[in-house]
Formats: sequence, structure tokens, C-alpha cells
Amino acid sequence: MANPAVAPPRIFNCARAQPKIRPSLKGRVKGVCVSSLPAGPEIERLIQLLAKLPGLGPRSARRAALVLLKKREALLEPLGTAMRDAAAAIKTCETCGNLDTVSPCSLCRDGRRDPHVLCVVEDVADLWALERAGVFRGRYHVLGGALSALDGITPERLNTASLIARVDEGVDEVILAMNATVEGQTTAHYLMDALTPSGVKVTRLAHGVPVGGELDYLDEGTLSAAFRARRPL
Ligand SMILES: [Zn+2]
Repeated sequence: MANPAVAPPRIFNCARAQPKIRPSLKGRVKGVCVSSLPAGPEIERLIQLLAKLPGLGPRSARRAALVLLKKREALLEPLGTAMRDAAAAIKTCETCGNLDTVSPCSLCRDGRRDPHVLCVVEDVADLWALERAGVFRGRYHVLGGALSALDGITPERLNTASLIARVDEGVDEVILAMNATVEGQTTAHYLMDALTPSGVKVTRLAHGVPVGGELDYLDEGTLSAAFRARRPL
């Protein structure tokens, strides 16, 4: 029988003494470990960090961590080294906002790319997608996000001032390659207005039927955008 004079421990080792807590109170009881993983703090930390990655929740983070731990020499240690090397070497390009190991980045240094055409994207992931498609041979400008009143993302928090400065240095065309979301289109309209005084030609990517897409599966917004953007053959 428990001695009422002895205070219960504030931190429980989950492998041994699992406190009886109503499920609804779990996670709200301060000082009580609610994880069910019988592992050390290093492994807990690994899982917590993995769970912050996009597409990984706590469950898939535990599975990923277990694969890493089982393949210590083949996967865990090389991954740790690669992450440390990347963290030490990675730079944000001072010109376009791309991520590379050099600044200006390799795309900005490439003399074969047209410096008079700028493609504006929200994120480096969008730049990578366009490079994979191999459709653009100009330079990029990464905004670092999209305008969002809800999230408090204002033009000052994006790389908009550096875009306008680059355009003033001699750019013939700015291609707005924003996402087809409310935030992306709000950003595109803002940039269109902000770039008007410079007199530069501003274009945006077409919206419509995706390659390989069937009309029957498209939503009304995509179909109406495709109709508006129709062109003669
Ligand atoms: Zn760059």
C-alpha cells in the first residue's frame, strides 16, 4: 500500500511505472511522461525532431527512427554526417534567395541563363520543381512565402523589396509562378501592382487542365480558369 506521506515522483519511466491517468488528462498533466516508448532520452529526442518534418506524425516518426536505429552504420551515421555537413555548408543566395553551398548560388552564377527574365516563386521547392521540368532558362527570385493576413505575413516579411530592386537593374520580363491558392494569387496581384511603376512586362503561369487530366474529374474553379485561358490553335 502506498505511503500517503511520500509524494509521487514527478517524472515516470514509462517502461516501468505507468501512472493511471484518464486518457483525456494525458498530455495535460505537467511533469508526467505520457510517451509509451521504453527508450532513452536520445531516442525520444530523435523521434520528436523527426515528427517535426512535413508528412511525418508521431507514429511515422517512431517507425522512421526505428529503421534508422536498426541500420546504424548503413543509414543513421551517414545521415547524421550528411545533415551536419549540409548545416555547415548551406547558404541562402544573397541575390535570389535560393539555397546552395555558395552565394550567389550556382543558378545566379550560370552565364548561360538569361539575366533579363526573372521567375518569381514562393519557395525553394517551387524553384526545384521548375528546374526538374527544365522549362525555364532565366533567373529566379524566391519570395520566401506568400502573403497571408491570417498568418501575419506582410510584404515586408517577404523578399519583395529585393525583387523590385533587381527589376530596376534591368529586367525585361517577370514571370509570377505563384501557387494557385488564395495566398499565392493575392501575392501575385500585390506584385503586379508593385511592379507596374517599373514598366516591366509581367506574366503569370496559366491555370487550367493539367496534362493527362480528365475534365470529369476537375473542380469547377479549374474548369472555369481553363475556359477563360483558352487560346486559338
Ligand atoms: Zn541565386
